[in-house]
This record gives sequence, C-alpha cells and structure tokens, in this order.
Amino acid sequence: MSPPTNAELFARSCAVIPGGVNSSIRAFRAVGGTPYVVERAEGPYVWDVEGTRYIDLVQSYGAVILGHAHPAITAAVAAAAARGTSYGAPTPGELALAEAIRDRVPSCQRVRLMNSGTEATSTAVRLARGVTGRDRIVIFHGNFHGATDALLAAGGSGVATLGLPGTAGVPAAAVAHTVVVPYNRVPPPDVIDESVAAVFVEPVAANMGVVAPADGFLAGLRAACDRAGALLVFDEVITGFRLGPAGAQGRYGVTPDLTTFGKVIGGGLPIGAVGGRAEIMETLSPLGPVFHAGTLAGNPLATAAGRAALDLLDEAAYATLARRAARLAGGLSAACAAGGLAARFPVVGTLVGMYLGDGPPPTDFATAKSTDEAAYARWFHALLAEGVALAPGAYEALFVGLAHTDEVIDDLVDRARRAAERAAA
Ligand SMILES: *Cc1c(COP(=O)(O)O)cnc(C)c1O
Repeated sequence: MSPPTNAELFARSCAVIPGGVNSSIRAFRAVGGTPYVVERAEGPYVWDVEGTRYIDLVQSYGAVILGHAHPAITAAVAAAAARGTSYGAPTPGELALAEAIRDRVPSCQRVRLMNSGTEATSTAVRLARGVTGRDRIVIFHGNFHGATDALLAAGGSGVATLGLPGTAGVPAAAVAHTVVVPYNRVPPPDVIDESVAAVFVEPVAANMGVVAPADGFLAGLRAACDRAGALLVFDEVITGFRLGPAGAQGRYGVTPDLTTFGKVIGGGLPIGAVGGRAEIMETLSPLGPVFHAGTLAGNPLATAAGRAALDLLDEAAYATLARRAARLAGGLSAACAAGGLAARFPVVGTLVGMYLGDGPPPTDFATAKSTDEAAYARWFHALLAEGVALAPGAYEALFVGLAHTDEVIDDLVDRARRAAERAAA
C-alpha cells in the first residue's frame, strides 16, 4: 500500500477538524490550493508526507529560531519528558526560564509563564484593567495580538475609531472599550486620556508585512501613556528574543510597563509569558486581585526547550541572524527584479518582510494593504513548486533562522529567481 498523499490526508482532516486545520492560515485560503502536510523537519527544511522537501521560511511563524529539530532542543525536551511532563507544582525549569527572561529584558522584573501568546495578551488586558481601574484599551490598526476578544477589534484605517467586533462571536460589549488607531502615529491626548488602561502595540509590526516604528513613535507612546497614567504594553510575541536579547525595547530604548512574549521563548513548544514591573505584576493572583491560572502553565517541556533556545541566542547569534536576514532580503530583491516581479523586502534587524508592488515600503495598515494579494498567491505557488515554503498569506514575515546558512539562502534565491519569472508572467 502506498503512503497517503497530502490531498488524501488533508481531505480526512477536513472531515474531522474544521477546515482541516488548527490555525486558520494553514488552510491556504489566502493563496488557494491544498496545504502540504508535514511529516518531519530538520534545520531549514520541512518534508511533506509525499517526501517533497521545502526550504522553510515559516519556521512555525517564528517560534523556531535555531532551525527545526535542533539537537539542543530535542535533548532538552527528551530529558525533561523523562522526568515527567507536567506536575501542577513549582519546578526549577520554570524558574530558570523566568530568570533568563528577567536577566535579558530589564523591564521584566517579574515574569508569569503561560501557554500561548494569546493567553499572554488576554492576561495583560485583564492585568492592565485591574491595576488601573480603567477599562479602555488602545490598539493599532494592522497589529495582531492573538485570539483575545478585547483585542480582536476592527477599525477604520485613517482615524481613531471605537472598535467593532473583528470576528463573529465577539460581542460588541467585548470591544466597546477598545479604540483602534492608525499605526506609526502617536494618538492625540483625547485618545490616550485618563480613561485608558493600556496601549497595546507591536513595537515592530510583523503581522502586516514587517513595518518599522517611525522615528519617535514608540517614545511618543511612552510619553503619552505617562501623561495619562496608562500602561504601555509591548506585544513582543514575535520580536521578543528575535530582534535581540532585549527584543524591540532593547533595540529602540523605550521601556514598556508590560511585555507579552510567546513564540521564541518556547523553543517551538507551546508557551506565552507576561513580564513587567514588580508592583504591576504582583497585582496578579495569588498576591493581588487579578486572577490568572493555568493547568499546564510553566510546563516542564516548554520551559526546558525555551531555556535551551535562549542559552544559544547570544550577541553573536543575533549578529549572524541579522547578516542572514540582509542576505535573504537582498537576494530576494535581486531575484524579483530579475524576474520582473515588483517587490520590496523591508528589513528590521533580524526580521524580513515582503510587500508586492511598486510603492514605497508600507508604514501603516493602509499602505500594507496595498500589497498585490493575487501576485502573492502566484509567487507563493511558484516558490512552492521550486521547493521553497513561505507562509500562505501575504502579510506574514519571512522567518530566517540560524539554520538558514549562506549556502541555504543562496540556494533559496536561485529558486526564487525562477519562481519570480513565473509569478510575473
Ligand atoms: C503570534 C502572535 C500572537 C499570538 O500568539 P499565539 O501563541 O499564536 O497565541 C500575539 N501577538 C503577536 C504579535 C503575534 O505575532
């Protein structure tokens, strides 16, 4: 009997898992076609169940930074698993990861570990409201903070708007206190006023392509929050431990009150964290009145994997990552230019984005949305046929990691040149 194909397995998944996936983007709805079903992965590569190998720029949407199945991670997870997978009691492993975060990110005097970036942002919302006694939350159009009701608000792109539910199932009441404002402009004092509990921001936006903060934007938010007595929350679920040891706050020298983490700090296992100033964090239960709990929070496997990842992410690793990011962006720019595909590859340190079009690189959601989604779908499938996997959506970052050596990047760029010609045609 021959092994099942991608299409056969995905069809079976569709009969039991809604849409065949456990996270919507994986279903390929934005680019069309049927997803490849992953059998295994190693370093910069994933293999599907049909044995096709792809150079992988998804890297679990940035959760994996050392490359797939890195020996330090697999050894840490195996050793932890052999000691038991979850206890419901404090562990030395969770302590070690919390200390590793605190030691690298000075604003995080206290750290609470949990299971996902979504749990981190929803906990930060509750904490900010509990600490300030205020309800209002300000967010930026085109920033993404996970599947947290209060932050799933849609708004107009040009002005400050009171949030409307961003998805079915979010009651109007859940976003009645959420205000959506344009990215990269400091909102006026009548928006960040004394009714605001917190301003949530991706300090480098990485869910609408990659958009750098404009000069003075983050410092302006800090000043506006200080004036209003509101908390500034950096959502560093992507940027944390990817842009550098102290994330975006280290890079830009602006200190938030709270930081949310996920992705890299779990070494590819499920994790999230909230960190911040002691007096704010100690408002969480059991010390304070703001409830938080989790059966698997501080999980021994996830904390062991996260600790192993952070141990390998020294200054030299980030310097290497930044060189690789520049090499990838430069190579892809040249490949697209040669193939006649209009494209921009904005780089912020170790993060690479993509924008399809002739315009300047985006600075906010309105400009990011002008990317050519149909061209993206053609480019995505042309690359896949050449053995290169991008995320199946036009607004995701390209996650270059330590396993993407210069040779791997050059091989990828060769394939991209052929794909660009096909996508442009
Ligand atoms: C991925 C992401 C989240 C959500 O994290 P999950 O672990 O998927 O719940 C939140 N914020 C940002 C900026 C993200 O990129």
